[in-house]
Parts: sequence; C-alpha cells; structure tokens
Amino acid sequence: MPADTLEFKAELKQLLHLITHSLYSDREIFLRELISNASDAVNKVRFDSLAHADRLEGNTDWKIRITPDKAAKTLTVSDNGIGMTRQEVIDNLGTVAQSGTKAFLEAARQAGKVGEAPGLIGQFGVGFYSAFMVADKVTVVTRPPGSPADGTRWESDGQGQFSVEPCEKPARGTDVILHLKEDATEFLDPWRLRSLVKKFSDFIEHPVVMDVEAETDGKKETTEETLNSRKAIWLRNKSEVKPEEYEEFYKQISHDAQPPAATIHYAAEGRTQFKVLAFVPAHKPLSFDWEEQSTGLKLYVQRVLIMDRCEQLLPFYLRFVKGVVDSADLPLNVSREILQQNPLLDVIAKSVVKNVLDTLAGMKNVEPEKYLTFYKGLGPVLKEGLTRDWANREKIADLLLFESANTEPGKYTTFAEYVEKMPEDQKEIHYLIGDSAEQMRRSPYLEAFKARGQDVLLLADPIDEFALPGLGEYKGKRLQAADRGEPSAGDGDIPAEVKERFAGLVSVFKEKLPEVADVRLSKRLTESAACLVADGAAMTAHMERLMERFGRGEGRSKRVMELNPNNPAVEAARELHSKDSKDPRVGAYARLLFEQAVIAEGSKVADPAAFARLVNDLITRDAKG
Ligand code: ADP
Repeated sequence: MPADTLEFKAELKQLLHLITHSLYSDREIFLRELISNASDAVNKVRFDSLAHADRLEGNTDWKIRITPDKAAKTLTVSDNGIGMTRQEVIDNLGTVAQSGTKAFLEAARQAGKVGEAPGLIGQFGVGFYSAFMVADKVTVVTRPPGSPADGTRWESDGQGQFSVEPCEKPARGTDVILHLKEDATEFLDPWRLRSLVKKFSDFIEHPVVMDVEAETDGKKETTEETLNSRKAIWLRNKSEVKPEEYEEFYKQISHDAQPPAATIHYAAEGRTQFKVLAFVPAHKPLSFDWEEQSTGLKLYVQRVLIMDRCEQLLPFYLRFVKGVVDSADLPLNVSREILQQNPLLDVIAKSVVKNVLDTLAGMKNVEPEKYLTFYKGLGPVLKEGLTRDWANREKIADLLLFESANTEPGKYTTFAEYVEKMPEDQKEIHYLIGDSAEQMRRSPYLEAFKARGQDVLLLADPIDEFALPGLGEYKGKRLQAADRGEPSAGDGDIPAEVKERFAGLVSVFKEKLPEVADVRLSKRLTESAACLVADGAAMTAHMERLMERFGRGEGRSKRVMELNPNNPAVEAARELHSKDSKDPRVGAYARLLFEQAVIAEGSKVADPAAFARLVNDLITRDAKG
C-alpha cells in the first residue's frame, strides 16, 4: 500500500512553525518528553495486561532503549509499550490534543515572537513535537499488540505534512527515529545522553538503556548500560532524596519551569498504607487553565500506574497540586471504574487535603514572601474551597490574605488578625468587594467604619462575591458587606430632629430619582455627600457589573440612596428647598448627588453628557455669581 500524505491540523502547524523557527537554550528537553511518552506507553501495556495477559506476546522485559547512530546521524528512542494503530498515529501525531500545548500557543501569541519569550517551550513541554527542535525529520515506527504486519510508519519534516504507511514491525511498541539537525549532533554523544537521562528521567520506573562500547583488557565489548537509577522517588525515604531530585520530578510531572514552593512527601503507616509525594507550585503556572484545568494525582498501585489523574484523590479547589499516590492496599486487578468506588480513595484524599492545607499554613507563617507569590496567583482557586469543602472551611479561611482599609497598599491582613483588632462593640466582620483595593480605599462606604475605628476588608477577586457570602462567618463573627443594608454595629440612631429637618428634601429626592428604591439619611457617611447601598437580598453593585461582564446582566436592581446630613452640599440643598420647594435647582442637585454616588460605587453614569451639562451649569452659575 502506498504512503498516504496528510496535513497537520492548523494549530499544530503553528506550533511546529514556532518549534522549528526559534532558538532556545533548553532544547535538550526533547529527550525527557520522548522518554516520558515511552514510559507512559509501557505503563499502558502493563495496565492493559492486567485484563489481557494474552496480548503481551511474551514481550515483558520492560525497557526504553536509546540508540545513537553516528554514521546515520540518527537518535532512536524505542519502547516495548502499547504502540499505536494507524488511526491512533494519525490522531495522536497529527493534532494538538493537550490543553497545555494550547495554552502554550496562546502564551506564545501574547508574547509576540517566541524568540522574545525564551524558555516558553520548555515551560510547557510540547511533548512529542519537541523532537523537531533537534531533528529535521522524524520517523515513527509503531505497532500495538497483534502481529508484525500491523505496524505503521509515520514520517514528517515538521513542515505541514506527514505521511503514514503500513509496515512490518516485529516487536510490539514504538521506535521514534530522529534525523538530527546539523547543529544537534551533540545528542549522539553517549556522555551527553547519559547525563541528560540522569538529569531528567532518573526516576522513570522502567530502565532506560543504551548499548555502550567498553574496552576491557584490550578487547572491545558492547554492553547494555542502564542509565537511570529507577527508584520511584516517592517510594524512597525522604532523607535520601535530594532537593534537586524532587525538583526535577516536579518539573517532569507538572511541565512547570520553576521549582515548587513546597514538597509534601510522607508515608501513611496506619491501618491503610500509602505513600504520597505532592507539590505546591510557586506561582500560577503559565499553562494553568482556570476552568478546564484537570485535577487529580497520579495513582500507582505497587508501582504500576493505574490512573494518570485520579480526581477522587484531590478536590477541585486544590487542582494546582501535582503529585503521586502509591498504595499497596488497593487491588491491582480490577477495573478503574470499580477502583473509583473504593472507600480507601476517600481516606487517602482526606489525608492529602489535610497535609496540603497544613503545608500551606506552615508556608504562610514561616515563608510569608513565598506564600504571597503563591497566593497572588492561586489564592482565588483556593477560595473556591470555602464553599466546596465545608469541613475544611475554617482552615481555608485562615489561609486567606486581605488588603484592608487599615493596611498599607500591598500589605495584607488575615481574618485572625482582623478579629483580634476588632473594637469591643464591633460584632461583624466588614468587607467591601470591588474591582481593586486601590479604588475601594477611596470609597464612601468606608467612612463610617473608619470613624468608629473599625477596619474593612477590601476584596478584589471575582470569586469573592460568591466565596465570602458562602463562608458566611468566621469564628462566630458574621461577614457583612459594607455596601449592603444598614450598618448595625454600635450605631446611634439619627436624631428625630435631624430626620424631621431633612424630611422635605428626602421626599423631593425620592420623587426626582425614579432609579432609586428609596432615599434615607445615612449613618455610614461622615464626609461624602451621598452613596448607594444594596438592600437586603439585592445584588451588590460589583456583582451586577460582574454579571453584565458575563452577559448575564438582568438590569440593575434599584438601590437605596443615602444622604449625609452633615455634608455642606446636602445641607445647602436642604436650605434651598426649605426656602422654595419649587426651585428647579433642587431637582438638578438631586441628580448630581445621585450620579456622584454612582461614580463612587465604581459604576458608570447612565448619561455622561447630561451629567456634564449639569456640572457645567453649576460652574457657569458659580463663576458668574
Ligand atoms: P502527551 O504525551 O502529553 O499526551 P504528546 O504530544 O507527547 O502528548 O503525545 C501525544 C500522544 O501520542 C500521546 O498521548 C500518546 O497517546 C501517543 N504517543 C506518543 N508517544 C508514544 C509512544 N512512544 N508509544 C505510544 N503512544 C505514544
């Protein structure tokens, strides 16, 4: 059968163009990617054999072989893993499947040229395609369990097309043959290969072997050398693992270029035994996909990889954690579906969550700078746990950092500190949600709290609007939005005499401002003239803006306008009204005060031109007067 020539999918063409046309220092990672694919393929056939031992063809000497050929200038990575059918070859090596690779493309697009963002490819790990960093042609010869005639040969120069044709392949598995570029012949050197395997793939559980020539007593002999130590790093004793080893392992499983912020490694020795090696990233990885980020830890049973991402082992709000669980107590020979119902998984998950949260708490106390970097990127993800993990919500609440009205910009406080500093008569924890702490610091809603010596937490993550009300309270103290309802703590009522004096003005304002639900005198303002508050169950202004941004706006709900009787402008309006209740300026002032309150809450005035006209009238009158 002749070879078929097929086109790469558009996205992949883009990716290959970036890979083949850019220079970067870390192209050596191609070897890590190919060895990791080979190791995955071996794990898959091992797993497959649990149910279909007959498909192994007696080929169970699990091995990944590296063969440099100086004469042909090729480097081959071979495995006796699961191999691929013709269709799998087309699907797997003709499209971009990984979401990480998609994120890479997006980041590269944002960075402009990849040349300006060195290391991007290394950070994402573009898998198989990284072969084109060092090769100008790649040939893949592969065959799944079956017979030698079931082989497929794939070949491409990475320029937009690839060919596939049937071929003979005696042994099951895959050979990836790299025809090295002129400037990449260093990867034929056994020393170079040996050190790369040691560096990147030492813990790969299958032997990575290479034939080496050695001279003993003047005689040349070829021996098979195993290049990696193969000790599954998570099965080793913590004291025996070097920090660099943890780091490499983390980079391998996470595709993150930076070292992790924290490493969690322990063996549970109680009634059930299992080992955990997990990592907290130092920052939000570039490839972090907010919604679609897959969660879960790798699940091994006695060193056999059962699931690459076992979701039950990690709640969604900890999806930034990467790692491995190995348990000897789980049955090896059952289906994944049945395994997922095993209650032991929940026991392990509970333990993992506890350890991750404790580790974060330790980092927050002992390494606050490090914690802050982590928190700035991934804090919003962690906050999802406030509503999703009821049992741990206090622990999660204690991990949160907030700017507040009393902190300096860029400095943070916590719930615990906030509560400790609360004046005795303060009953609730006040918070304000908005677009940025900087903007909220100038908000009129803070005035009354400031005057009473009470602090207000300033929250600017979109998730806060759901997470904080979801939490409801902290150590028995209710959480109360500062721009909602009437402030209750320690307020004296407005004196009846003041209320009476302003009654006329208040009712004219109500009449002139159909967009507000009510007008009342304010207990919360000490400086500003007016503000708008959401009443009872109504959405706050920030929430409404969010919903509008997501296209879910259902029209603004009406707010209550509060007037500060001590503000000179409000007082002037009152005087004017009491002299002549028909004076048209009263209506104009009502509108001006309302619109300045709209601006203060961070929203936009509905008709900026009309607003400008009102202000200009005022200037004209004032200048002439
Ligand atoms: P990833 O390995 O992250 O999924 P790759 O681009 O490296 O992405 O590989 C794409 C797919 O090709 C793999 O998911 C796997 O199904 C298949 N593949 C790659 N290398 C091998 C191999 N040596 N043996 C079997 N399948 C492979």
